[in-house]
Amino acid sequence: MRIIRVGRSKLFPKPVALCPNPGSMADANRRLSENVPGEWYVDSTCINCDTCRQLAPETFGDTGEFSFVTSQPEEFPQILAARRALVACPTGSIGTSDKTGLSAAADEFPLAIADGVSYCGFNSQKSYGGNSYLVEHPAGNWLIDSPRFVERLARRFEAKGGIRYIFLTHRDDVADAALWARRFGAERIIHRLELSSQPESERIIDGFEPVQLAEDFLAIPTPGHTRGHTALLYRNLFLLRAITCGGVEYAGGFPLRGRSAGIRGPNR
Ligand code: SF4
Repeated sequence: MRIIRVGRSKLFPKPVALCPNPGSMADANRRLSENVPGEWYVDSTCINCDTCRQLAPETFGDTGEFSFVTSQPEEFPQILAARRALVACPTGSIGTSDKTGLSAAADEFPLAIADGVSYCGFNSQKSYGGNSYLVEHPAGNWLIDSPRFVERLARRFEAKGGIRYIFLTHRDDVADAALWARRFGAERIIHRLELSSQPESERIIDGFEPVQLAEDFLAIPTPGHTRGHTALLYRNLFLLRAITCGGVEYAGGFPLRGRSAGIRGPNR
């Protein structure tokens, strides 16, 4: 089984005002002093969501309070990874003086990570930068949690057959789910204990037993981070949106590392 980890390093990130222009670039006047000199930088609007460090670990590091550029990308693979991070950054906190290739990087999302499973990018500040995923399926595609609504990404989804279901793991990460549902006429699925965050959801999960939502898709309630948190097991291969909580990974309601480790993610 492969576990795709939530992309947030902190359980309670600091509250911030919503970025007025999501996807915009950073302000060089607010460049953090920790950045190494060069074209790429992070500014003081960073919320330390971890997205850039996942996508471009050779370029971005962590001070404990925010990300900063630890090494300027010089070779193409590192530059490409940094461009992807700039596009995915939920607060537009990453800047570069070289705008070349940013449009192409935006069009790479959703980014394939395994057969039929993609990372959506365009993380939303409304969900503190949580990751979202697309699962392409013959019976209709699934969106797992919500990226920020961007028409450019919507057209990419459209080219892949649109979205039939939106599975919402928990209240923190509904972000623009209502906009995505309206855009594609998709059915939102959420646990009853999370329903107040998306009250117009079309399908509700009750109780704490696994629920077979459709062929290949099993909802597994994983209370802990929130009372109704639910992960989605796809084809018995991918557990989407296990949660990182206080530095400990959880899935199925128990920690993956430490005292009662049961299932270990591959990216750890
Ligand atoms: S993706 Fe943006 S907000 Fe998140 S840690 Fe990196 S610079 Fe900060």
